[in-house]
Amino acid sequence: MYEIWDYIVYSQLMEKSQIQNLQAFLASPKNIVIVPHRNPDGDAMGSTLGLCKYLKNKGHTATVVAPNESPAFLHWLPGFEHVLKFDKQNKQAKRAIDASDLIFLLDFNALHRVGDDMQKTLEGYPHNFAMIDHHQQPDTIATYLYSDTSISSTCQMVYQFIEMLDDITQIDAEIATCLYTGIMTDTGSFRFRSTTSLTHRITADLIDKGAENNKIHNQVYDVNSYGRLLLLGQALTNLKALPAYKTAFITLSEEEKKKYEYQKGDTEGVVNYALSLDGIVFAAIFIEDKEQGIVKISFRSKGAFSVNQFARNHFNGGGHDNASGGRSELNIEETVAYFTSLLPTYQKELQESDEN
Ligand code: 5GP
Ligand code: MN
Repeated sequence: MYEIWDYIVYSQLMEKSQIQNLQAFLASPKNIVIVPHRNPDGDAMGSTLGLCKYLKNKGHTATVVAPNESPAFLHWLPGFEHVLKFDKQNKQAKRAIDASDLIFLLDFNALHRVGDDMQKTLEGYPHNFAMIDHHQQPDTIATYLYSDTSISSTCQMVYQFIEMLDDITQIDAEIATCLYTGIMTDTGSFRFRSTTSLTHRITADLIDKGAENNKIHNQVYDVNSYGRLLLLGQALTNLKALPAYKTAFITLSEEEKKKYEYQKGDTEGVVNYALSLDGIVFAAIFIEDKEQGIVKISFRSKGAFSVNQFARNHFNGGGHDNASGGRSELNIEETVAYFTSLLPTYQKELQESDEN
């Protein structure tokens, strides 16, 4: 069996002194809270629940406190029933945070990613933060930081983190299931560039440890409602391609969402259809959110064109080089007009960005 330290050339590890300090801190039972980003996705829920079970196996008291609800296709994850939602179970969530000795922040790089209310609570937190994340430019709030933008998913990082703690044998079937789920969703089922041989080795080990891969795929991907598929049909009808900029985009209005009984998570992955068009290297989806008074945007790219930079520069967002998100306070038509007006500036970069 390979050792994580053998892969040091491929992926950075947490500083050994930090691991040793954490190991010393965790040598006696502690009270620990684990936090994913707002609107948690498969990687955020998988990594927090996987780490939570690991810490419980080690004798700690551990609680996942999520800023808000996650999509229904993640509710079967082991341990999900114990997750506290900061918006809906505010008192309990605050109590858990107050009682904790350490807070893990997983799958996000800046406190504002938990939303305003929870951010305020976390800003007043008197103890240490530990951050495990694969997004670019992490904030400097964490005493313990494991940050590596080259790793496929936070779930893969949690596996590597547990290995650095010399505890790989502590990974049981439930932890394996959680971590497999996040690796699967964040790699687009093992197809994005971030999927390496190490990702596959770790995934194989998770299957050996009890992750039922076929079942996990079915539980996440084959649970569409009729409305969700019709909403996808609407999204594809709205798809526009701008071949001169190797760009394609999709819009979904609040009215269209209502018509097809939109549920949280229904638009997850839809942007990838725009990116799947032959010859396209840059894709976006604009989703009207009247409740928040914004247009939520997801960006995806292939090759060197950085959507992290694009989202940071123009849409108050960020993420990874090939997958990012942002927001706009203009209405949806104005947002799209603004977006298309930016494209000529990037024409050369887009033309040169490789499809493969
Ligand atoms: P998605 O498009 O799936 O919501 O997000 C893609 C990636 O971009 C995720 O890794 C997510 O964390 C990041 N991301 C999405 N929206 C935002 C945003 O508003 N701000 C920042 N900084 N990152 C975002
Ligand atoms: Mn992630």
